Amino acid sequence: MQVIRSIKEMQQMAKELRREGNRIGYVPTMGFLHEGHLTLINEAKKNNDKVVISIFVNPLQFGPNEDFDAYPRDIERDETLANNAGVDFIFYPEVGEMYPVDLSTKINVTKRVNVLCGKSREGHFDGVATVLMKLFNIIMPDRAYFGLKDAQQVAVVDGLINDYNIPVELVAVVTVREEDGLAKSSRNVYLTEQERSVAPELYRSLQKAVQRILDGEKNLDQVKTEVINAVHEKTSGIIDYVEIYSYPDLVELNEPNGKMIIALAVKFSKARLIDNITFSI
Ligand code: AMP
Repeated sequence: MQVIRSIKEMQQMAKELRREGNRIGYVPTMGFLHEGHLTLINEAKKNNDKVVISIFVNPLQFGPNEDFDAYPRDIERDETLANNAGVDFIFYPEVGEMYPVDLSTKINVTKRVNVLCGKSREGHFDGVATVLMKLFNIIMPDRAYFGLKDAQQVAVVDGLINDYNIPVELVAVVTVREEDGLAKSSRNVYLTEQERSVAPELYRSLQKAVQRILDGEKNLDQVKTEVINAVHEKTSGIIDYVEIYSYPDLVELNEPNGKMIIALAVKFSKARLIDNITFSI
């Protein structure tokens, strides 16, 4: 496994790999790798000749009051995990390498964005789309792997790839969970013991909600209220949102129809957790 820090070197390597006929599978990450990331890497290994991951905590996608500085980082541990998982290259640029000067163009996401996390994290998905545009051009992957844990991100990236005819196949991978159902996340380390013990309630309440809809409940406001009440009763978290939309278009529904997402975001003392289930009726 090779760690590459320069854009030029990464781009040259990608060109060479492609010239030799390799298909490149790419997993973008912000590091502090866990089993969720490793599952994406395994999927990438199955269907490609070379696997590249990037580790880059992208300042453009963090708001002024968010956890950019506090975001957990441990490159040595990440290198070991990535190496053991069979990664071929880690692209690990510094912020100054990615953004040496203020950009003269930025991607502005216009659909699938004013809901869920996009509503409270203004500019977040613009930052995600902008950095991915750069990363896709640097790594030139055939396939890119994203987790459905961040289902809105998958929807936004799907739009980006289609809008700009980016020759990358998007592969969405189901959420990897702890045994008790909590979605794996780099931010889980910031939960207190008490918060960690009740955090699985988020997924449980989503599961119950999906079951209610599959059992025939048509009133989506009622289902959302039940989730809100359960999270209030059983955790100390502050609910940012509980929403049900069509997926991947993320438009409001009067009643259950087709492919849908139920998603929530809950703030604990030092970590804001998100989770969702996509399902069809
Ligand atoms: P992050 O490092 O948090 O930006 O995540 C990098 C990629 O891993 C994103 O596509 C995430 O959706 C994905 N990911 C994060 N957590 C999980 C999880 N628990 N299961 C599956 N994919 C995940």
